[in-house]
Amino acid sequence: MQLTLPTTAFECQNLIGGTWQTGIDLERRDLHSPYTGQRIGSVPMSNAAEIDRVVKAAAAAAITWRTTPAKERAQLLFKFRELLLANADELGQSAALESGKTVAEGKAGVLKGVEVLEYALSLQNLDDGAQLEVSRGVTCEVKREPLGVVAGIAPFNFPAMVPMWMIPIALAVGNAFILKPSEKVPITACKLGQLILDAGLPPGVFSIIHGGRDTVDVLVDHPSVAALGFVGSSAAARSVYSRAALAGKRALCLGGAKNHLIVVPDADPTLTIQGVVDSFTGCAGQRCMAASLLVAVGEVDGLIDAIVERARGIVLGRDMGAIIDKASLDRLHRAIERGVADGAKLRLDGRQAKAPEQYGGGTWLGPTILDHAAPEWACAKDELFGPVITIVRVKTLEEALSLEAANPYGNATSIFTTRGGVARMVADRATSGMIGINIGVPVPREPFSFGGTKTSRFGAGDLTGAGGVEHWTQLKKITAKWAQHSDATWMS
Ligand code: NAD
Repeated sequence: MQLTLPTTAFECQNLIGGTWQTGIDLERRDLHSPYTGQRIGSVPMSNAAEIDRVVKAAAAAAITWRTTPAKERAQLLFKFRELLLANADELGQSAALESGKTVAEGKAGVLKGVEVLEYALSLQNLDDGAQLEVSRGVTCEVKREPLGVVAGIAPFNFPAMVPMWMIPIALAVGNAFILKPSEKVPITACKLGQLILDAGLPPGVFSIIHGGRDTVDVLVDHPSVAALGFVGSSAAARSVYSRAALAGKRALCLGGAKNHLIVVPDADPTLTIQGVVDSFTGCAGQRCMAASLLVAVGEVDGLIDAIVERARGIVLGRDMGAIIDKASLDRLHRAIERGVADGAKLRLDGRQAKAPEQYGGGTWLGPTILDHAAPEWACAKDELFGPVITIVRVKTLEEALSLEAANPYGNATSIFTTRGGVARMVADRATSGMIGINIGVPVPREPFSFGGTKTSRFGAGDLTGAGGVEHWTQLKKITAKWAQHSDATWMS
């Protein structure tokens, strides 16, 4: 699937109370495609007055949305699903254009969003309440309720998928949802917003407010925003979580990662070579589930040589997309230089890779492999967020597990082995929230929830699946008595 470069620019607007609005006196920032560097549109940076307007419109909409029966809410979301599927190609193109992904990756993000939506649609058939006679003549009932106005803040690397981790479940359970997309990739979010309007959701039930860090801070502080979902870097996740907690709000903030892939000598070559290369080059390494550190246990040189050769065959613009912007590209160049200066062996240098001819002016970097690194070097410790994998050699699986445990991040850990006992041991002892066995990107499919541990997650629970339902709802407990019983006990 080729990227079609647009001939017109997309000037993003905020979605407030069901209408697209330019805002008054808002600073606008130009958007450039990582493919070519060309201007593809602009985004407003919303101020406090604009944020107040969006929250007030959402608060008004939340009153009737929460009392709309779940099955009626679901009918509108079914329509949204139809529209998403009908527009999946266009959304995939849009996500690719603004984030640098391949078009196939852009579309895959949309389809994962559809999967979350399908899970949300299944909630209408769940009887999640419970009622019990707890004492003579006394019943206790539990009722799951929405929180009111909730907000989701998204990163640049999944323009459709990460917003769709949050939107469907939050809406299905009866909240009004405000999306703050990444200011680097706001176009796909606007297209999602238009489809939600086209599906017939009432005005204000879904809103979009554009902006950056300042916008997030005002949104988090706004007294009418009851809860937050955040996905982005660990520093920002920690900051949003702390700010929300101080304000007494519920927040679940997913952060960055340094995912470890452990490869042992008995690993299956086919599964391992493809699994490792796909994991560190997919989305040009700009995903929180990307392989970042390969922990090579014992003699696995043959596998590593084959990984290097497979990665060398990757063609930029066809198999792998671009880096989000020049600042990220420069940062990655510096990280590679530093790894080499520290003493790593550069097995594959992505800086030498040929940028695609048709996409001149873009920000491109090929797959890069730094071998024989020490665990304490920056290339082995820091999240690089690009198509760069560092290899650390260890002698035993115990050493590999110690390295994994010392990793401050906890998104994903994978083991490549043909032995069930080794796989089980790693799955049991690894400290990450998501474990792969012969899988390099162990993203759980719905209904299994997505979420890491340690500094990859601030707050309790997970963001999709049943975790999402918990996050976007609260339980109300109703205890009732209708008559005085003569045989009452102390509890009656
Ligand atoms: P980022 O933290 O720079 O930005 C994410 C969002 O937060 C954006 O909407 C941005 O406007 C806002 N923001 C930025 N700094 C902020 C701050 N200090 N306070 C409040 N809001 C702030 O992240 P990014 O560069 O857009 O995305 C890449 C990062 O996201 C990587 O670290 C990646 O691992 C992480 N990520 C994590 C997951 C996950 O599920 N754990 C998924 C995708 C991406």
